[in-house]
Parts: sequence; structure tokens; C-alpha cells
Amino acid sequence: MIGPNTMIIKDKEFAPFIESTRIQEKVAQLAARINDDYADKNPLLLAVLNGSFMFAADLMRNMCIPAEISFIRLSSYNRTRSTGRVKELIGLEENIFGRHLIIVEDIVDTGLTIRHLLDELQELGPKSLEIATLLHKSAATKESLTLKYVGFDIPQKFVVGYGLDYDGQGRNLNDIYSLA
Ligand code: 5GP
Repeated sequence: MIGPNTMIIKDKEFAPFIESTRIQEKVAQLAARINDDYADKNPLLLAVLNGSFMFAADLMRNMCIPAEISFIRLSSYNRTRSTGRVKELIGLEENIFGRHLIIVEDIVDTGLTIRHLLDELQELGPKSLEIATLLHKSAATKESLTLKYVGFDIPQKFVVGYGLDYDGQGRNLNDIYSLA
């Protein structure tokens, strides 16, 4: 039966690459570290849409300290022909000056997205700025980044499930699958 734990693309059935129980264990561990590190700091989690929505929800559910969450997004648009595609941060409504921020990402691949976010957010004067990412393709990361909370370091394969999509599909899967 096809359910939320089976992925079939073009008649090919995929076995989970990271199973839901392992994901949940890891998320609970990350939340426990954040609880310790941010007790009395009221951190503001900035979850990057769309891919991080499940991770962010489960992370927040496992946190037991005062904390807030807001959802942000990077929109791509063509500013000029010469500069090509430029990403703009949208959705940030809070005043983040003096706040302890944790960016919540689904996956860091080359690191360009997170680098861009860090640079934009840093200009707004947060008291601290850290990154929590469920997945990291460390071998593909070109930027020099300090990723404080990492769930799994994975190979350079395209993954789907637990919020991550393949052409818009698969975000609902409980497990994470590798397409390659
Ligand atoms: P980066 O800027 O680090 O190269 O890429 C980050 C973004 O690329 C992620 O937020 C995600 O949207 C997308 N991405 C990178 N690798 C994967 C992958 O394996 N699967 C999916 N679904 N998205 C990915």
C-alpha cells in the first residue's frame, strides 16, 4: 500500500535513506542542546521556507525553554540582466536587533543560501546568530560556515522527504529518501 513511508517515482520504489525514528531521535538531541545553550535567552528561530517546515515544527515541539519562531523565505528575482538572479529575504517582520537568532534550514548544500542569509541578518544587529540544519552535504559546501547544530552529514545525493521536495512532491514523507 502506498502510504507516507513509501516513495515511488516513475514506477520505481525507493527505500528510506534516513528513517523517521532516526530523524526524530536526532531532532530531540538537537533540541536538547538548544535548550541548554539558550535557557533564559528567548531565542527566535527563523525557519527558512519551504523545506524546513517539518524540521522547524519538530524542533520547536522538542524545546522546553521560552522561544519564538518566525518563517522567512528567499525569493529569487531578476534585478538586472547584468547581475542575473538575486535573492531577497522576505517575511521577516520582527525587530531582530539584540535578539538571539537561530536560522533553521532543511539542508546546506553549497552554502550559498545560508551565506546570503547570514550576511543580510547580521546587518540588522542580532545579539547572536547561529544555524541549525537537519542535513549538511559537507563535501559540497564551498562557503566557510560555522554550522552549530547539524543533524546528519550526508553524501552529495539529491534527497527528498520530511519537508524536502522533488519537483514539489514528497514533502509529506516521514522518512528521507535518496534519489541517486
Ligand atoms: P545551497 O545554497 O546550500 O547550495 O542550497 C540550499 C538549498 O538547495 C536548500 O535549502 C534546498 O532548497 C536546496 N537543496 C540542496 N540540496 C537538496 C537536496 O538534496 N534535496 C532537496 N529537495 N533540496 C536541496
